[in-house]
Amino acid sequence: MSELVKEKGLDRYIRKLYKNFHRIPEKSYEEYETAKLVAEELRKIGLEVEEKIAGTGVVGRQKTGNPGPVIALRADMDALCLIRNHQETVQHLCGHDAHMAMVLGAAKMLVKTPPPMGEIVYLFQPSEEKLDGARKVIESGALDDVEEMIGIHVRPENEMATGDATPALLHGAVQIIRAEIFGKNAHGARPHLGVNALEAAVLAVNALNTLHFDPGIPHSAKVTRLLVEGDTYNQIPETAEIHVDIRAQCNALMRTMTVDISKAIDKSAGALGAKTIIDTVDHTLAAEYDDDVVKSVGEAIKGVLGDVLPPLVTFGSEDFHFYSSHKKIKTAYIGLGAGVKPGLHHPAFRLHPGMLVKGSRILAESVCKRIHQYACTQESGTI
Ligand SMILES: [Zn+2]
Ligand SMILES: [Zn+2]
Repeated sequence: MSELVKEKGLDRYIRKLYKNFHRIPEKSYEEYETAKLVAEELRKIGLEVEEKIAGTGVVGRQKTGNPGPVIALRADMDALCLIRNHQETVQHLCGHDAHMAMVLGAAKMLVKTPPPMGEIVYLFQPSEEKLDGARKVIESGALDDVEEMIGIHVRPENEMATGDATPALLHGAVQIIRAEIFGKNAHGARPHLGVNALEAAVLAVNALNTLHFDPGIPHSAKVTRLLVEGDTYNQIPETAEIHVDIRAQCNALMRTMTVDISKAIDKSAGALGAKTIIDTVDHTLAAEYDDDVVKSVGEAIKGVLGDVLPPLVTFGSEDFHFYSSHKKIKTAYIGLGAGVKPGLHHPAFRLHPGMLVKGSRILAESVCKRIHQYACTQESGTI
């Protein structure tokens, strides 16, 4: 009974935070009011707070005073910026307001019943939607001592039933290639004197569509943009540009695809005498989790929800995976079925706020399990 009463109190606290964050949606790197609210709340809970991490990020630290692992719980902070009817609107349509409320809820629980050793870092990261916040947080040095990190994201109903959760949401890698193609201008009546950049671009598109990669690993590559300079129709175009959106469920395949597609564009355009400049414009990495952290988080999910889903492949990407690749932090990432409808990034986005307290408990339990695991390995002398 007392547990139930406790959970009700926590549920109210988390719902209120969620509503407060929901009311102040802010764009990437403009999360000023959000950061203020996060810092205020962390201080109220009794934690040390560091602000202006990578611009608008906030970090709260809970030190036990005893040596042990440094474990971070990460929430993203930014809302989504949409252009609708030629007007910019900023709304929380990806649940980042819910993620902040859940991490603060976990902080509240862990401060009340602190683990015996180690340190907990509550990370509120700016600019996830632009996919560059994690890299900037890493560059800030704020996480230099962090050894493990757990992230969480609410999931849509068509991906996961409400009340289900996985400890390993498997995002794919994304790479955007921009290829500029340079031909030679000529009169439309004298094509033999020019190099048609549009024809070279079309040849490049056909060439990359003939490449075949391991069908055992989900992947795709498609041309999403073709631009040709000039607005005349009786002239051989001199420059063209194509963008290719590449997706792959593993980082090694993404590397291969990026190299091969770049080569195919360059060689095929080159066959017509055109030159190319090929850049990789934007990218994120595929999930690479630590088995031990995933196992502990899975046990925490089972303890809170009664059952746990296996690792789950999802569409889309996350900048979270820079923490494991660039900082070698051991990670796991929870996908929480929270009744999101009609879907992430949908203007009518909504979720089931009753699930947020479960998310907080899973996060808090996960930290406790990791620290318990550490204590056990210390005792048995395996480290
Ligand atoms: Zn999003
Ligand atoms: Zn998101």
